[in-house]
Amino acid sequence: MKITDVEAIWLRLPEIDERCDGTQDTLVVRVHTDEGIVGVGEVDSSPAVAKAIIEAPLSHAIARGLRLCVLGEDPRDIARLWDRMYQGSIFYGRGGAAQQAISGVDMALWDIAGKATGQPVYRLLGGGFRTHLRAYASILFGDTPALTHEIARGLVARGFTAAKFGWGPLGQDEANDLALVREARRGLGDGPELMIDAGLCYDSRTALRRAEQFAEHRPFWLEEPLHPDDLDGYARLAAGSPIRIAAGEQETTLRGFAALLASGIDVVQPDVARVGGPSVAVQVGRLAAEQHRLCVNHSYKTGISIAASLHFLAALPNAGWLEYCVEGSALRQTLTHQGFPIVDGLVAVPQEPGLGVDLDEDVLARYRVA
Ligand SMILES: [Mg+2]
Repeated sequence: MKITDVEAIWLRLPEIDERCDGTQDTLVVRVHTDEGIVGVGEVDSSPAVAKAIIEAPLSHAIARGLRLCVLGEDPRDIARLWDRMYQGSIFYGRGGAAQQAISGVDMALWDIAGKATGQPVYRLLGGGFRTHLRAYASILFGDTPALTHEIARGLVARGFTAAKFGWGPLGQDEANDLALVREARRGLGDGPELMIDAGLCYDSRTALRRAEQFAEHRPFWLEEPLHPDDLDGYARLAAGSPIRIAAGEQETTLRGFAALLASGIDVVQPDVARVGGPSVAVQVGRLAAEQHRLCVNHSYKTGISIAASLHFLAALPNAGWLEYCVEGSALRQTLTHQGFPIVDGLVAVPQEPGLGVDLDEDVLARYRVA
């Protein structure tokens, strides 16, 4: 089997605003083969940047677009092709947007490998530790504590047994921070788990103070309170926090996760569409397992990323949670025919060959900008 083309398809809602919502646009990758099998992947990046990285022409041996790195190759040689993309992008890559773009191609290669062998991707990644993951609804804080309360009640009514609120107005004012978290807990009630995503808004001393203040509402974790470069801050926070500290969605390399784990945080959150695809996400998870920490996906894109997340998490012993974005964006809700329904708070790991997703071609055409 040979790769005949790599498409980078940029999708974008007609209206985009500044709130930190990754479902407003995306980059879909399609890898075509001479046997008619097409693999699908997704990149979480700036779509225009990642598209350029995939489509760039040859500059020289270690500065070439990802498409050129894999064209004409056998798509089933996934580790070798991953290395070709990494070596071919050394000049401008070794992490960041290049690694995010590699994620989309890698994801599509795993999809092809699954379709070619009739196996779901998780089985090719080592086999399933579980058939279902517990979904936590993931959404931004409401603009006010009262709105946050209302959102939380709605999520419980939809059958979620856990929810995470993040970003938005958090971090501007201490009293408001406490009210937001209190109302999130009150809206959920006592039973469901509550996660808090600080969205990079604190320094380490404030984060420690908030962790102590939030503790009475029993959050399962406090996520990404610090700048991703502040590893010393994470070390101080992890040593003193009464609640779990989670981080990692900005990391795009295995060595980045190794450093984060060394800081002592409790939960690592690789995004399969940023970290180099399922090939690297599963390595991050295993590194965390070796150190007895939890691995949970970060994912705030479409059904493609949800499926890829389910597969790599299913193949890990130290997983169990699924970040499940509940934004109303048409890209999040309608790009894949598969809706990943919540049943008893759980989402099933796809059992079809490959990733187990089909794209709605009408949705793809409607939101395609390049
Ligand atoms: Mg987050």
